[in-house]
Amino acid sequence: MSSLFNASRGPRPKRSPTPTGPPPNAPNGIARERSPSPGAKGNRPLYLCSPFADAALVKGNFKTIVVLPKYVDVMEWVAVNIYDFYTNLNEFYGVLTESCTQQTCPTMTGGQTVSYLWISQNGKPIALAAPTYIDAVMSSLQKLVEDENVFPAKSNQPFHPSFPSTIKNIYRQLLRVFAHIYHAHFKQILHLRAEPHFNSLFAHFLAFGKEYDLLDVKDIKGDTNNPVGVGALWERWKQAGILEA
Ligand SMILES: [Zn+2]
Repeated sequence: MSSLFNASRGPRPKRSPTPTGPPPNAPNGIARERSPSPGAKGNRPLYLCSPFADAALVKGNFKTIVVLPKYVDVMEWVAVNIYDFYTNLNEFYGVLTESCTQQTCPTMTGGQTVSYLWISQNGKPIALAAPTYIDAVMSSLQKLVEDENVFPAKSNQPFHPSFPSTIKNIYRQLLRVFAHIYHAHFKQILHLRAEPHFNSLFAHFLAFGKEYDLLDVKDIKGDTNNPVGVGALWERWKQAGILEA
């Protein structure tokens, strides 16, 4: 594993410069438990059913596409990949916004009994409707990726010492957006016939997160009584050899 937290620096790969932006405003949020909705348990979610669960564009193990290329700085590699995950996920969510509304998704769910709270600027956890929560995630990430103090655009500019913790936080929030889409909007993904693309993006995201130690298992799986929906997908992909065990 190439850990970010004891990274040695090397030459940087080329990347396109990002515009300057306002100061960082790291996204925040905590998970909470809620009561299961009546009749919700026992229904196997579609994203866990064949053939949808295993539809993917990339065949085989994702490990090969996440390993650090030779002579590439690990921070730079992580920054570029996070930017791509954010951009792709934002595009997927963009086509789902009509079905993710204050009415359809009054809470930011990630499983039958899991919903997430946003942490306001004064540190208080608040319940937001899913579209409001996801907008808050995406707009704070937009600010971060545009901020050269966080994502340096020049190759001689060092990464801020807080970069590893900032990106772990970004990763947790992106995971929640994935969890919500799988839990609440997989039908629309199927309707768009986008499940191979979406599964591949998510499997890539999980493989990358594991390789660079950006994900906590608890965030992927939840706890025994309040499992995060995508935790079962993660287990399934590990069993299938798509992801490393
Ligand atoms: Zn929704």
